[in-house]
Amino acid sequence: MVRGDITAEDVDVVVNAANPGLSGGGGVDGAIHAAAGAAELHAACRLLGGCAVGDAKLTPGFNLRARYIAHAVGPLWRGGDAGEAELLSSCYRRCLALADEVGARSIAFPAISTGVYGYPRRAAALVAVATLRATPAAVEVVRLVAFDDTTAALYRELLAAPAGS
Ligand code: ADP
Repeated sequence: MVRGDITAEDVDVVVNAANPGLSGGGGVDGAIHAAAGAAELHAACRLLGGCAVGDAKLTPGFNLRARYIAHAVGPLWRGGDAGEAELLSSCYRRCLALADEVGARSIAFPAISTGVYGYPRRAAALVAVATLRATPAAVEVVRLVAFDDTTAALYRELLAAPAGS
């Protein structure tokens, strides 16, 4: 894990926390559009025809150091009984699969759904760490990028604990 701005990550794939329309937004989505080149990224996203919740789609990285952006659509938090954990887990799995499809060696994830989508930070970090540990993938480096102290502390705590504890 690292604490910082995901747009500066030197990895093959940067994951975006997108919306189903892939129409751009605030938070990490806005930061990625600004850094990658908003006009080009908007045009590339428009061609994709949206994305289901729990799924992800690739575009080029344009002006980012990353070669690709994986636009993952996390679930909106509705209290926890609406399949949110499975949908969030699916985002992480789909991004790993896309990274493998393009032969990526490294990928960086933001804390999907924990901003305006309202997913509680601890619950989301548990899903992220458990899913990444449990999913076989060829990608060699998987980085969790925390934008705030709370998320950074959660990742440190969970990654220090043995898998399954
Ligand atoms: P969502 O709609 O999926 O909740 P947000 O972009 O609102 O997406 O928030 C997702 C997470 O991304 C939040 O934890 C937020 O603090 C974090 N974030 C915002 N900007 C950045 C950035 N530049 N780099 C990494 N993480 C970021």
